[in-house]
This record gives sequence, C-alpha cells and structure tokens, in this order.
Amino acid sequence: MSDIISLLPDTLANQIAAGEVIQRPASAVKEMMENAIDAGATNIHLIIKDAGKELLQVIDNGKGMSETDARMCFERHATSKIKTIDDLFTVRTMGFRGEALASIAAVARVELKTKQEGSETGTSIIIENGQVVSQEICQTPKGTSLAIKNLFYNVPARRNFLKSNTTEMRHVVDEFTRVALSFPTITFELTNNDKPLFKLPQANLKQRIVAILGQSLNSKLVPVNEETPFLKISGFIGTPDAASKTRGQQFFFVNNRYIRSPYLNHAVNQAFRDLLPKDTFPFFVLFIELDPERIDINVHPTKQEIKFDEDKIIYAFVNSALKQALGKYSVIPSIDFNLDSSIENLPAMNSAFTEEKRDNTQKEFLFRSFSEKGKAHFLDKQETSNKEWKELYKIQESLETEIVHEERTPYYFQVNQTYIGFYQSNKLYLVHQQNAHERILFELFSKTSDEPITIQKCLTPQTWELNTTDAIVVNELLEEFLNVGFEIEAFGGNTFIIQGVPADVKPGQEINSLERIVESYKFSSPNMKLDKRERLYKTLAKQKCIRVGKVLAQSEMDELIQKLFSCAMPTHSPNNEKTMIVLSSNEIEKLFH
Ligand code: ADP
Ligand code: MG
Repeated sequence: MSDIISLLPDTLANQIAAGEVIQRPASAVKEMMENAIDAGATNIHLIIKDAGKELLQVIDNGKGMSETDARMCFERHATSKIKTIDDLFTVRTMGFRGEALASIAAVARVELKTKQEGSETGTSIIIENGQVVSQEICQTPKGTSLAIKNLFYNVPARRNFLKSNTTEMRHVVDEFTRVALSFPTITFELTNNDKPLFKLPQANLKQRIVAILGQSLNSKLVPVNEETPFLKISGFIGTPDAASKTRGQQFFFVNNRYIRSPYLNHAVNQAFRDLLPKDTFPFFVLFIELDPERIDINVHPTKQEIKFDEDKIIYAFVNSALKQALGKYSVIPSIDFNLDSSIENLPAMNSAFTEEKRDNTQKEFLFRSFSEKGKAHFLDKQETSNKEWKELYKIQESLETEIVHEERTPYYFQVNQTYIGFYQSNKLYLVHQQNAHERILFELFSKTSDEPITIQKCLTPQTWELNTTDAIVVNELLEEFLNVGFEIEAFGGNTFIIQGVPADVKPGQEINSLERIVESYKFSSPNMKLDKRERLYKTLAKQKCIRVGKVLAQSEMDELIQKLFSCAMPTHSPNNEKTMIVLSSNEIEKLFH
C-alpha cells in the first residue's frame, strides 16, 4: 500500500484560491483600491492598459510598507487589519482576509514599490509565479505603487475565459465607480491606454455623483437622510425622470462597502412604485450605516454580499426613509409616510444598543462565524436567499396598504385624428399620437442592446455613393446604424455597401430611406451638441413615427398607450414636447366652476 496524499505547494494552493478572489481584472482593481484606502491614501491613481490584461496599476499616497511588510504582504493570510477573532466584528477597514495580494501574486507578474513616511528609501519587489525574483532598495515617493502585469499569464484557462476588452473594461470602470462614489473626499484618477478617463477632485457626495455619472443628474438628485439609534441612511435618490431601463445606476453601500442586495433594491423600488413605469429602475446612491456587529460581511469571498441580523427592519427603514425623502421633495404627495406602526414599535427601532444586547449579539455571532467560516458562502447561499424572499413577501403583505388599481382596458376614442383619449383611475388622458409614438420609437432604438432590431439581409448588396461631407457623417454612424437595423460597410472613399436594412424598409427603398435619414440627421438640432447616437435615434424616431392625421383602430391605440406607459419618460417626446395632458376628476370639476 502506498500513500497518495500530499500537501499542495503554496504556489498552486494560491492559484486555486485566487479563483475565488480574483476572477477578472476588475476584481484586482477592487482589491488594490481598497488596500490604498485602508492605507489612508488621499490620492489614488488607477492605470489600465488593454482592459487590464496587460497592466493594472494603482499608485497611492498612503502610509506605505516597511521592507519586511513589503515582502510579507504577499503571503497567504498576511494582514495588518485583524489580529484576533474579535476584531472581525468591528472591522472598519475594507480588507481583512489577507488573501488578495497572495492571490494576485500567484496569477500575475507583480511589481511593488513602497515607502513609508520619514523613510529615506523605499523597497522594490518583483514577483513571478508567486516567487520573489528581485528585492531592492529604491527611490520612490511616499506611498505604494502596485503594478500587475499579464494577469493570468500562467493560468491559460482563466486568461481565455476573459471577455472582450469592452466588457472587461466596463467591469473595471464599475469597480472604480463604486469605490470613487463611496469615498468622495479622496482624489481619484483613472488612466486608460495612456488617456485620462476620469479625474475626480476632492468633492462632496453630490459633486462626486455628478462628476462620475453625468452632469444631467445635477438637478435630479433628492437627498435622503434618516437616522435612528439602530441605523442611519444617507445619500441621494434620483427623481423619477432620472430612472433608467437598466439597473446599472443603483448603488448600495453598507458601512461604505458596496453590496448587492436584491432585497434592499426591492425596498427602494417599492418606494418608487406608482412613480415609475414598469421595467424602469430608479437611480440611487445610498449609504447605510449600522453597527458592524449587526452584519456579517464574511458571507461572500469578494465581500459583496452581506447578511443583516434584522433584515426585515432594514427593509422597512429603507423603504420609509425613501418615501419620506420623495415626499419632502414633493416628488410624490406627502401623505403619511411614517414607518409602518408594526415596525416602528419593534424594540430594536427605539432602543439604543445596551451593553447586554451587544454581548448577546456578539456571542451569537461568534458562534455562527466559527461554525460557518469557510463554508458559509457555499452552503448557506441558497438557503439565505430563499429565506430572504420569503421574508420579503411577508413584509410586502404587511406593508401593502395602498389601494390596488383596477386593471382593465379603457375604451379609447380619437380626437381630430391627433389625440387618443381615455379615462382611467379617475383621470382623463389625452395623448398626442405623433409625439407619443416618437417617444416609444426613440426608447426602442436607445435600448437596442436588449432587443436587437431584426435586420433583413439584402438579396443583392447595394452600392451607395455619397458626397464627401455625407460620407463622413455616415462613417461616424456605422455602429449606430447597425443598432437600428441598417447593416452598412465602408467600401473605401465615399462608397458604402448596404448589406441589410430593418424589416420595415421595402426592397428598392434602401438607399432612398438612408438618404432621407442622413438628410434630416444633418439638419436636426445643428446648434445643440447632442450625442451623435441620440441625435440619430431622434431623427429616426421622428421619421418613422405615426403622424397626426392617421386614423387609428382600437387595437392600435391600445398598443400605443401600453407602449408609451412602459417608456422611461412617457410624458415627453424626445424633443421635449408634451405627449399627454392628464386631468383629474377634481381638475375637470374646477373647469366647470
Ligand atoms: P487585507 O487587505 O485583507 O489585509 P491584502 O492581501 O489585500 O489583505 O493585503 C495584505 C496587507 O498588505 C494589508 O493588510 C496591508 O498591511 C498591506 N498592504 C496592501 N496594500 C497596501 C497599500 N497600498 N499600502 C499599504 N499597505 C498595503
Ligand atoms: Mg486587501
């Protein structure tokens, strides 16, 4: 009988473990930026090349590392952030597992330069295949620079698994955004392929949100601020017109750590219910603060999911804080948005932490963490989320005090071959058919990534000759054209080949239809500096929409109204003209007096 069990060499063990912590360039970005923050940096510069596949570097002006620490930090379970199990319950740093650098060093070539305040010289270390290949004294500014080159070069399976540069870069920018949002007082910079992508000066939260996510949000942010002895919520939510068709603009931070929580998102969406059309998602950047003892951040290896001790209360709190905020800013009429009384009377809502309670929680927690540590995220996940959803429905029911709307198709009538009229939920609607359809088409084109428009291949590809000016316009728009169903190839010079057109373009009309689009594109809002994509979509919507003067059947009116109300911004056309006039019963009555 021979023995067959052997211990894995450290390098291999680290490579395997790296799979959990470092899945893609963006995960390394997150870990490195968090380390810079934990080191007290006030200035953090992220440098990316080739979507992070070639280079990921973070330069910070934090406290740096000693010569010994510079070497130690790459060891597995090497951390300066916790020393005893008790520390785990009070961690305020972003990291604490001591796994990130060991994992990174196992799957990339790493170059570290670091110097502490007051030191004459710094340390420079190069690591390949998890082994130190050089360590030298060097000149370097105070702080740390960590460069990761050729991520996964020694794990080809993982390297091949990486997505296109666009996708990987999007993940990198997502991570960067999350960290930059949660620390507005830190200066951040992101350089991509030698070009500056973000330069974020020290700011307050509102300025930071606008600097990253767009100037247009400036007038659409409603502050949220509520505090109880138990927890605090602060940040901003967007007014309904800041809502989007994707969940991309929703940020929850718990104790400054970005988390994903369908449960909490639901609490927000619920507060916005009736303010937003179906399938749109409110904008928010919200920070929840609570005693770290009340949450378990150890559930997920990348720490993006956490467990709350009393998630029901948190749900209700978030929900009511938002309604409060929306009410205050008269986004919705402020009726009575105090906490549901059954929740308000729960002891945890009113009483501050007592020492005794704290001890109890800690004991429970300690026990749980010991028993679950290392396997919580594998075994517990399914169960947690099931439980979460069950709880969610329970609380949903108890919060369900609002009147349920009647759902039946109204009877439409057409006025002047221009307006669609109907009466629903005590309101009289007059919808402008042309403006409304323009809105519908514009949003349809804008979200093509979810639902691509069907392209009809031309039986014989057509040659399209243009003058130089128009050729420049078309060249710039090839991708946008494809998004809306025109497959066009540049053939060199001013010539293009039309390979396919949207299904509604009749054979023989391909060139004609494109020429009309180019013409009106050129003359659409020439003074405004619109995004070219937006401009093309507006042009197209205007061209293809149902006109004033067209008689509509009941079914057509129904379809138009349904589609309009599932738009993100149903009230206005893309050119900002009203799509509808709504009169409540009261308003109608007033008109008579
Ligand atoms: P963790 O952050 O969980 O402690 P890491 O592997 O990310 O584990 O880092 C290990 C240790 O290296 C940290 O605890 C910290 O002491 C040190 N370290 C890492 N990055 C930096 C940095 N940018 N500046 C100063 N110290 C750092
Ligand atoms: Mg770390």
